[in-house]
Amino acid sequence: MFQYQPNDQNYWNICCHKATKCTQDINTQVAIIGGGIAGLSAAQAFAAKGKKVTLLEQYYCGSGATGKAGGFITPNAELSFLDISHKKDINAAKNIWNFINNGLEKIRSNISNNGFSCNYKNDPGLFVATCNRTLKNLLKEYEHIQKLGYSSDFFDAQQIQSIIGTKDYYGGMTYNNSFGINTHAYCQELKKYLITQDVDIFEESPVLSIDNHTLTTPHAKITADFIIVCVDKFLPKFNILPEKIHHIQNFVIISEQLTDQIIQKIFPQKSYMVWDSHLIYNYFRPTHDNRIILGGGDLISIYSTEEKHNYIRGYKKLANYFSKTFPQIKINFEYQWPGQIGISKDLGPIAGPDKKYPHIYYITGSAGLSIATALATYSQEHLLENRRDLDKYFDPYRKYFINGITQKLLGKKLSFALNNFMVQQTLGCF
Ligand SMILES: Cc1cc2nc3c(=O)[nH]c(=O)nc-3n(C[C@H](O)[C@H](O)[C@H](O)COP(=O)(O)OP(=O)(O)OC[C@H]3O[C@@H](n4cnc5c(N)ncnc54)[C@H](O)[C@@H]3O)c2cc1C
Repeated sequence: MFQYQPNDQNYWNICCHKATKCTQDINTQVAIIGGGIAGLSAAQAFAAKGKKVTLLEQYYCGSGATGKAGGFITPNAELSFLDISHKKDINAAKNIWNFINNGLEKIRSNISNNGFSCNYKNDPGLFVATCNRTLKNLLKEYEHIQKLGYSSDFFDAQQIQSIIGTKDYYGGMTYNNSFGINTHAYCQELKKYLITQDVDIFEESPVLSIDNHTLTTPHAKITADFIIVCVDKFLPKFNILPEKIHHIQNFVIISEQLTDQIIQKIFPQKSYMVWDSHLIYNYFRPTHDNRIILGGGDLISIYSTEEKHNYIRGYKKLANYFSKTFPQIKINFEYQWPGQIGISKDLGPIAGPDKKYPHIYYITGSAGLSIATALATYSQEHLLENRRDLDKYFDPYRKYFINGITQKLLGKKLSFALNNFMVQQTLGCF
């Protein structure tokens, strides 16, 4: 059991979320820990099968990485199809890619079927090359995506300048099924919807320990047939898979509201959600209210232990990136926030049952909203319908380049950095 501490949260903000705390012991069929996109989607999947579901969130739904995300709903979050196919055989890569795209479509259908108000914006994802080597690989990625039946466009160095108002990129390719959302609003909308489906959602209810079928919170105990642990980077706090999950930090800055003319200077034809191929990459997109949201990390803080708030270095790096990319455009950035995600050593998600207690299922290190959603459905299919075909790819106990004693000698941060570096060789530019 980990030590309960006061929440590192502003109480007045928390009040706005009208949390219902768990104050009484409960017996339920499925208990879910974590109210991010993985936990909420898992709750939806199990509730749709008629199970009684109870979700416990330590702060409020969306308070973790999900509610801080840039809102790019794309199949390629941390890993491209090419990255996946380098690690797996081509058929496995195809299955995984289709799986991720199912997660993406699940988010879209949730929004349209239930009328979620979350600033849905139908912009394609655009992956841009920052060196010639990457451009060649982007062409391969484009060809693969097309063969798989997904719509994509490829732009060479000349064409890209008419798409994005900068001379800095060597070309790019699109994922045309992508779209943008306000992820905090999506979590809140999904929470409201789940309550109508009879799911019990308790916020400000941290789970302090998991013991076989029982969860302990500060005020109550919950017993459940199945437990789905969707706490992402917080998993090592339970001393579960502590050597397999680490976190990386990212920052997001968001501009003042811009005129249509400025937006058009950045996107001369139509808007896109852009990310580049730097190893620590940058990403930007226009929001529904004509702001530019821009995100990325920096080498010094990327593996830092605590979230760095109001991080001037991060702000400068992102703002400089924008002014260097678009020197003719002067804009002010009004807000900045940090966020951390859980990652595995090979940047693939970790999802699967506990070795000793197969009724406890982990979803962590998804590093992407679409795949987190897909894994949530998969957890239900694994536990209730015996689905096993993708188990081995997400296996919580799989081995990496650096493990065991080597990891102990190198330390966790360096081991993760080296492992992550090795899998990002395909499309990264240094
Ligand atoms: C700045 C930033 C930008 C990003 N942008 C994008 C993007 O544009 N597109 C994309 O696809 N991905 C993006 N990501 C990644 C994406 O947000 C994450 O991969 C995804 O949200 C993970 O979802 P999750 O539900 O697993 O984790 P989380 O959203 O972190 O949810 C875990 C939840 O568990 C709760 N919890 C933890 N411990 C306990 C406990 N003991 N008891 C109860 N509850 C607990 C936490 O409070 C949290 O709410 C971004 C991430 C960051 C940080």
